[in-house]
Amino acid sequence: MALVGEPATPGSRVGIGHDTHRLSPGGPLKLGGVVVPYDRGLVGHSDADVLLHAVTDALLGAAGLGDIGELFPDTDPANRGRDSAEMLTEALRRVAEAGYRVVNVDCIVFAERPKLSPYKETIQKRLASLLSVSADRVGVKAKTGEGLGPVGRQEAMMATSVVLIEPC
Ligand SMILES: [Zn+2]
Repeated sequence: MALVGEPATPGSRVGIGHDTHRLSPGGPLKLGGVVVPYDRGLVGHSDADVLLHAVTDALLGAAGLGDIGELFPDTDPANRGRDSAEMLTEALRRVAEAGYRVVNVDCIVFAERPKLSPYKETIQKRLASLLSVSADRVGVKAKTGEGLGPVGRQEAMMATSVVLIEPC
């Protein structure tokens, strides 16, 4: 089924997510549920997968189900070092419970280094599998910070995502 030219299903909803994590020496670097070889990793309470967090927030926002911090508070020891793929799966379960399925997702990773083009397809497939959609419904883009700001100085990575869901 082609996406282009399809009218949106009545009751479709859109959500946006954005996240930032600090970089520190040592790995592993996880982006979109994929381990990307790099000499720095993202720091956070969970596994700090900045892309999965942005997608999870977009998904929850689309369904009006709050945000990732409400679902998985960092004050809860159970969330320490938690696999972000697990959090996305739980968010998707709740979205399905609310009567929706994912139409498509688009996202941008902001990272000065490493070069992400060799990993984009793997990340796209992993996201598609986590969201139970085909890979052509997942967009993954990578942008550098052009040497500017926390991304450009390699102090942080950010991710932004947009998700469309429809009633099922
Ligand atoms: Zn995060």
